[in-house]
Amino acid sequence: MENNFIALKKVLIKRRAKLLSAQKTKRYVRRDNRHGDDMDQADSAYEQEMSYIFRGRESDEIKAINEALDRINKGTYGRCDRCGEMIGIKRLEARPFVKYCVDCQEDIEKKRELETAMVPSSWDESEY
Ligand SMILES: [Zn+2]
Repeated sequence: MENNFIALKKVLIKRRAKLLSAQKTKRYVRRDNRHGDDMDQADSAYEQEMSYIFRGRESDEIKAINEALDRINKGTYGRCDRCGEMIGIKRLEARPFVKYCVDCQEDIEKKRELETAMVPSSWDESEY
């Protein structure tokens, strides 16, 4: 079990480095979009909004990775943060940063979907 966690730790560190370098690349793209006419600015405002959303997701993953590494160091890694059951090693190998077992994850995601469905989309108006 412990040997598997060492392998997963390496995967997590590698993944985090990849996400961090992806963030840097996106920042350069945004800087290039700043100059241009009004149409370009409208596009770049939309792109900035989109990249903000994507960056948000990446940051969430980096946060989850940091938490997972923390749990490995503390020795609590591999247990569901919600119900305390062991998370299957196959699930950990597929998504090493997961915090919850399949059942809890599904439950949480269902609740999240309901929350997002209630938030009105900010760019719906541009269609009219
Ligand atoms: Zn659970």
